[in-house]
Amino acid sequence: MIKIKGIFLTQGLDPASDGPGLDGRPQNPLRIGRGFVFFMEIISEIKDMQALAAEWRSRGFKIALVPTMGYFHRGHLSLMEYGKTSSDRLVVSLFVNPTQFGPNEDLARYPQDLERDAAQARGVGVDVLYTPTAAAMYPPGYQTYVEVERLSQGWCGASRPGHFKGVATVVLKLFHQVQPEEAVFGEKDYQQLAVIKRLAADLDLPVAVVGRPIVREADGLALSSRNTYLNSAERAAALCLYRAILAAREVMLTDARSREDILAAVRKIIMSTPHTRIDYLGLVDPETLEEVGTVRQEARLLLAVWLGSTRLIDNTLLAESRLCCV
Ligand code: AMP
Repeated sequence: MIKIKGIFLTQGLDPASDGPGLDGRPQNPLRIGRGFVFFMEIISEIKDMQALAAEWRSRGFKIALVPTMGYFHRGHLSLMEYGKTSSDRLVVSLFVNPTQFGPNEDLARYPQDLERDAAQARGVGVDVLYTPTAAAMYPPGYQTYVEVERLSQGWCGASRPGHFKGVATVVLKLFHQVQPEEAVFGEKDYQQLAVIKRLAADLDLPVAVVGRPIVREADGLALSSRNTYLNSAERAAALCLYRAILAAREVMLTDARSREDILAAVRKIIMSTPHTRIDYLGLVDPETLEEVGTVRQEARLLLAVWLGSTRLIDNTLLAESRLCCV
């Protein structure tokens, strides 16, 4: 792979035309000299992204968007791989959105590595890595926000006031800029997924919001860009989130399906692990995120735990009828 002025180039596989590539879907080869290349473009101007999206739409291409804050790991890549198979053009946005961070949060130290991210995205076959600047997204005088009211209030919304207002606003802006027919999010941020689904439904957005399973390390820790903050003792302790999930699933194997039984098992694991402090534990309806007293059919177990100064979240589906899940 070579890089020329923000455009990543790979030798083309099917130089015949702008028709279907080897995977049977439209490609976008460039003629350079006597050869052809496929490329991933890095776009940072909002107007350039909007113009390209309009052109793609006019040609009948289905656009998928994967919104991210970068520092990619296999969780991000799994969303991109899904988006690649479900669309004609895949845009990955990389924007560390200041409005979703509280004043004492980690905005200033959020990990970043554009070169590495770009290489990884290109490896998946992303068409555009969209990197708008904060100055362009929120120019002087900016004052328009969107809020998904009830769903944003509890859980992470209670611990991080204003967080989901920032998330909903930036995602709505990205939808306007990228014009996706499909937007792909991870179930890792379960409340975020619920908020965005509600946002799309309530505002009649012509976007299908798709949730994809949590990708974990071999030992069960959910991948997260924030895992890089953990020292080795905290990394070892962080496993308590997944162990707590396994304990909850064990409880489901017995006849005990009550919130008390499930949360007691979860609490016991976390509280017996050093370096931890529970932020919240919830057993909720998967759609409304309102607390449930007993698991009937399906419920979602939500966990937020501090490991030193790093807050990690995780969740799982608990289902009456099957032994599941990610
Ligand atoms: P972030 O860059 O942290 O804002 O995450 C971008 C997207 O990746 C969000 O939709 C997240 O839910 C998703 N994501 C983050 N971690 C994982 C993971 N371990 N498995 C699957 N998706 C993830």
